[in-house]
Amino acid sequence: MLKAEDIHKSYNGLDVLKGINLSIEKEEVVSIVGASGAGKSTLLHLLGTLDTPDRGKVILNNVEVSSLTQKKMSSVRNEEIGFIFQFHNLFPEFTAIENVCIPAFIKGNKQAEAKALELLTILGLKDRKDHKPSELSGGEQQRVSVARALINDPSIVFADEPSGNLDSQSADELHKLFFDLRNKMGQTFVIVTHNMDLAGMADRKLEIKDGIITA
Ligand code: ADP
Repeated sequence: MLKAEDIHKSYNGLDVLKGINLSIEKEEVVSIVGASGAGKSTLLHLLGTLDTPDRGKVILNNVEVSSLTQKKMSSVRNEEIGFIFQFHNLFPEFTAIENVCIPAFIKGNKQAEAKALELLTILGLKDRKDHKPSELSGGEQQRVSVARALINDPSIVFADEPSGNLDSQSADELHKLFFDLRNKMGQTFVIVTHNMDLAGMADRKLEIKDGIITA
């Protein structure tokens, strides 16, 4: 489903990624680990088209997304890719269900509410749908952001330290949810994490060191 070929990225003369090759199969849950500053978020951003590599290719569903125009890349990003961040990045003035609908509205799908409600129900948040983020717990906020990531039926979901800001019980629930979503909906996940429980649960664990994948 997703391939990275010889990805290089430097910032201000600092070579962060020095030739990353990887491939992710449909319905895999893959974790990415490595020391702080190793380049995990940089890699996730490149794989997710939030940034472009200096050299190398990112290929999603047989399309070389890293060489698309910004406009085409934005629509691939919105329609094919879901993101979950450490700090959920929900809009504070919108309710849970409104937040979940936003990527669908951007796509031009005005009928997203039924799907959003279905996702919130699967994620155990049906009764919280009209709450604003400030009225939800950290774990609930993060589950809203999972629903938002799934609203457009993405091919792949990238999560960057998704449980980094959660207490251990909420983190465990979130981790279990990723595998439930894979098992029930066939969702593919690539997850950057420092959480060794989550990293170990994944189908594969990739480690980045010195700008390359070492294991
Ligand atoms: P990790 O996610 O493994 O902690 P990052 O990918 O965030 O690592 O960062 C890797 C290195 O690249 C760090 O030295 C960081 O300071 C640098 N870096 C990341 N993004 C930028 C940027 N936009 N501008 C300059 N340097 C950056």
